Amino acid sequence: MVDRAEPSAAPGEPAENPTATVAVVAVAREAGEAESRVALVPDDVGRLRSAGFAVVVEKDAGKKAWFFDDAYVQAGADVLDRDKCFADSDVVLFVNRPSDADAGRLRPGQVVVGLLAPLVDPAFVTRLAELGVTAVSLDMLPRTLSRAQAMDVLSSQANIAGYKAALVAANAFGRYFPLLMTAAGTARPAEVLVLGAGVAGLQAIATAHRLGAIVKGYDVRPEAKEQVESLGGRFIELKSVPDAAGEGGYARVLTAEETAAQQEELNGHVAQHDVVITTAQVPGRRPPLLITAAAVGAMRAGSVVVDMAASPLGGNVEGSRPDATTVSDNGVTIIGAGNLASTMPMGASTAYSHNVCALLAHLAENGKVAIDLTDEIQAGVVITFDGKVVNPATAELAGSNGREPLVNGA
Ligand code: NAD
Repeated sequence: MVDRAEPSAAPGEPAENPTATVAVVAVAREAGEAESRVALVPDDVGRLRSAGFAVVVEKDAGKKAWFFDDAYVQAGADVLDRDKCFADSDVVLFVNRPSDADAGRLRPGQVVVGLLAPLVDPAFVTRLAELGVTAVSLDMLPRTLSRAQAMDVLSSQANIAGYKAALVAANAFGRYFPLLMTAAGTARPAEVLVLGAGVAGLQAIATAHRLGAIVKGYDVRPEAKEQVESLGGRFIELKSVPDAAGEGGYARVLTAEETAAQQEELNGHVAQHDVVITTAQVPGRRPPLLITAAAVGAMRAGSVVVDMAASPLGGNVEGSRPDATTVSDNGVTIIGAGNLASTMPMGASTAYSHNVCALLAHLAENGKVAIDLTDEIQAGVVITFDGKVVNPATAELAGSNGREPLVNGA
């Protein structure tokens, strides 16, 4: 049985007030084989206890990220099997959304926290609402609020993914990234183009630049120019789409005409580069197609394309698939990146864990999660509460009047 007595700030010391009860936060082991991250790292157990929570961890939850059960126990958590973790907790932490089977184990009033992607699959959170579960989705955080920055999981994970994308590209490329002058001759530097200069794109630019490549960046938001240049890259401006900035710092969806014009104008740039890394996304939409098969066909043999937007919904590169590498007839390696953050699980879990702790500290009131939908942060991340889908954008998609959700093919 989990000790719900109010924990002391220092693990191992007796509780200050053994009669008070606190909410129990469970750390679940991620379901997918390909997922190596864990939602809370041992170093943050004490932080949650200080915020007034008790912590339980599913056996081997952190093993793939090199955080072993012993470390959690030493930090003051109980390690339990999966059933006990779900049964004994008030809040269950995930990185990704729980499996359908795990969703069925949740009980009314229990809170589930993770990257639940409600705009991609509103039916899943609708089910959580029907189960009476409170769904808190970190991908719905209002990111432009400065007080929400410590909770910004999309940024922390995109930073890692962008860094890894540059390393994956360098690894697959058959030449040096930097200019090297040796007795065996001079190696010219690789020319790298990064399409989409948000959090991941900027980190890919910075990393490729540090490796010595000549880097260019492009984005439909004009303010990205200064950011690309500050990291040592050159910004490409296209005449076809001079400005497609949308709301909240994101890009808007391009029209079909704009997309076709953008693809055509990008073709020439793509063909001149050795490595292209694509990161373009519009939240809740299919990733825009930036590089057609014809553009790949015009690239030099030995070039490398990393599509960070590759997903079951499509990617930025025609024909790319997540976690799959293909080589085109003209010798271009196309890497569908998939879940790059998971390939750096210690760093990614540590960052995610800090973000989650900041969020739980924000939600906590006297050792309990207190839902207050008038709070701007909670209005963003709380998707279901009290049996209802309370997030308006998700409710619109889940209802019959909204546009078709992506999982249904729109
Ligand atoms: P994202 O993952 O949604 O998209 C990645 C990039 O793709 C974006 O820069 C977007 O403009 C670009 N893009 C979309 N369609 C495109 C197209 N057709 N062609 C080329 N590029 C295209 O974005 P993100 O990395 O999550 O960041 C989005 C914005 O949010 C940025 O402006 C970022 O600075 C901002 N942001 C702000 C804060 C903050 O204020 N605290 C925190 C995080 C992010």
